[in-house]
Amino acid sequence: MKPTLVHKLCCPFDKQDLQLTIIKQDAHQNIIEGLLTCESCRRYYPIVYGIPIMNPDEYREKQLEEPILQRWSKQLGAGFKEKLLK
Ligand SMILES: [Zn+2]
Repeated sequence: MKPTLVHKLCCPFDKQDLQLTIIKQDAHQNIIEGLLTCESCRRYYPIVYGIPIMNPDEYREKQLEEPILQRWSKQLGAGFKEKLLK
């Protein structure tokens, strides 16, 4: 996804602005992997293969996302898990 698109996205739960952490970009600055976080409700939405995963809670597969977050843990920082609970 293009970085400019991020500014048009908001949290599907409470419609607040999202913060972006870029993990991986291609040569055209498109975001291949990244993490969108909502500071208001502390939800997180991973970007995988350029697609933001923004399904409602009941359609999320948190156990499938776990290995991705593990792989990104270096970029996200040690305190990531404690800061985001959902
Ligand atoms: Zn939110």
